[in-house]
Amino acid sequence: MKNLILSILFFIFYSLFAIAQDIDEKPVIRTNNENHLQLRSCQYTNNYDIKYHRFEFDIDPAVKYIKGNVTTYFVPLEELNMMYFDFRNNMTVDSVLYHGTQLSFSFPSYIEFRVNFGQYLQTGILDSVTIFYQGEPYSDGFGSFKVDKTTCSDQDSVMWTLSEPFGAKNWWPNKEVLTDKIDSVDMYITANKKYHIGSNGLLVSRDTTGDKITDHWKHRYPIPTYLIAYAASGYSIYKDTFDLYNGGQLEVLNYVFPCDSAYAHSQTEKLDTAMNFFIKKFGAYPYENEKYGHAQCRFSGGMEHTTMTFMGGWWYYILIHEMAHQWFGDKITCGSWHDIWLNEGFATYLEGLTCEEGIQTKTFHDWLSSKKNSVISNNYGSVYCDDTTDVNRIFNSRLSYNKGAYLLHMLRWILGDDDFFDALYEYINDPALVYDFAKTPDLKAHLESAGDTTLNEFFSDWFYGEGWPDYDIHWSSDNNCNNKLRVSIYQTHSANQGTFFEMPVPVKFYNDTKDTIIVFNQKCSIDTLFFADISFEPTDAEFDPDLWLCAKATVTKETVPFKTIHWTGEYNNLWNISANWDCGVPTSDDEVIIPTGTPDCFIPDNYNANCKRLWIGKNAKVITYGTAHLNIGQ
Ligand SMILES: [Zn+2]
Repeated sequence: MKNLILSILFFIFYSLFAIAQDIDEKPVIRTNNENHLQLRSCQYTNNYDIKYHRFEFDIDPAVKYIKGNVTTYFVPLEELNMMYFDFRNNMTVDSVLYHGTQLSFSFPSYIEFRVNFGQYLQTGILDSVTIFYQGEPYSDGFGSFKVDKTTCSDQDSVMWTLSEPFGAKNWWPNKEVLTDKIDSVDMYITANKKYHIGSNGLLVSRDTTGDKITDHWKHRYPIPTYLIAYAASGYSIYKDTFDLYNGGQLEVLNYVFPCDSAYAHSQTEKLDTAMNFFIKKFGAYPYENEKYGHAQCRFSGGMEHTTMTFMGGWWYYILIHEMAHQWFGDKITCGSWHDIWLNEGFATYLEGLTCEEGIQTKTFHDWLSSKKNSVISNNYGSVYCDDTTDVNRIFNSRLSYNKGAYLLHMLRWILGDDDFFDALYEYINDPALVYDFAKTPDLKAHLESAGDTTLNEFFSDWFYGEGWPDYDIHWSSDNNCNNKLRVSIYQTHSANQGTFFEMPVPVKFYNDTKDTIIVFNQKCSIDTLFFADISFEPTDAEFDPDLWLCAKATVTKETVPFKTIHWTGEYNNLWNISANWDCGVPTSDDEVIIPTGTPDCFIPDNYNANCKRLWIGKNAKVITYGTAHLNIGQ
């Protein structure tokens, strides 16, 4: 999802003082820290596999209340005589029906609901149970169950749900986990006939009885609990039909406030270009047997409910962000809230790719610059979400969104476009992951496979680690000696964690007429001095002009009062032969480099070799014979 004014939406907190009711009670995490909601799901729901939900609700979008029932088809993974759901105990449960028989039930804690079957259900046999309930749902997180007025002058009502991350339990009994997708759902919602209800999947029917309608939606793709949603209002409805890059057409169905209809349409009809770009890059639209669409609500941002994004307005970049989630977030969903960047970092980076592609007016450079400035505005914080009980932390825009997106951009820098986009395509189409969940190592494996490399260090530094590198770069060019560049690169860690960021560091060197970008591959902390050939005399240098790295840098031009002479060993092995050096035999005023990979350098018997400083590359050798001398810095 994407929220424009995140901070004001977290003002609803609850006192968390559930009292253990019976012996089965698992410990409830209690906290008085109002930034941490008690949001963990029930630990007892992992002994069954959910296959299907049927929702039947009777609502009045003007009244914050829900009444109806949820039927759950499930397969026990072990013998069980009771079944737990994540469900808030402020809801009034009227009855629980199992094969026509009423079952006993209870709320063992304020967020757990338990059904007692009175018998053991066998492992592996599909079964079902229906829970009838009503009440005024709590609304927490981003506003999990809300009623408001539309923005139109008639002040019509709008009701919507937004369960991510932990709000589904407030309005329906479920299994609020990131391990079990529901194979399919049907949503039947009854309301006054002036209302239209938008939801996941396809609208199957709209039946009228008296002054009421029942809209029936069906969704036949696996869906995580938090993406099931509905919105209801006196919507104006329009459709766009997109011609798809991979053939065929897709219906884009929009439920909007009547007074916003013209503007909404002007924004949503433009999405076909971004839709086709994503198809080209990442494969078919994941729900092409159904639809895409939008339903308008009253919150500041968007939420990527599968096949029907809920929007608080018609910001083009947020429309693109939520559409990107249909691949990254909905088709493949983060397998834990620690890995939320697999949803949000991706959707954010895909926003950037549409800038690069010219689909948005903002340039890619400006987009990258704004994301980088956001990340480096604070020295700390990891993309890995280290507190999954805190909604603010999970959806931290600087870390989960912007730094997450920058991680992808830096992986692209390291792997190159071909391998990077191949890896992303293989990841988002991996048969083991599609319509299921993924964790960061699943993505990492695809990146390593495509790039034929290991990325342990990268993920250790950039995903689990905090902060970013701050580079101190000094350079000089020796115009006495073939314009050779001498560049020293030191880095400090913004969060002082001691981690070294092994990165290829691009620096642009230029003068009035010429420029070139040279990449210095800093592989370890002692890799600080680099030399490079350049065909012109640069007057200035700029760190990372294309914004590949999420880093700060200062660049300083130096005048070095000595020549730097490189050993080549091109003629023979002797120090005292001019043809073995790139700029003549060194004197006591010169700095000497014996690079890695060059032949061994011999100083002959009786010869006095001189230099100001000496650098010897790894595995390179200088060997003295007999009474040979090497005078350094004398
Ligand atoms: Zn998002």
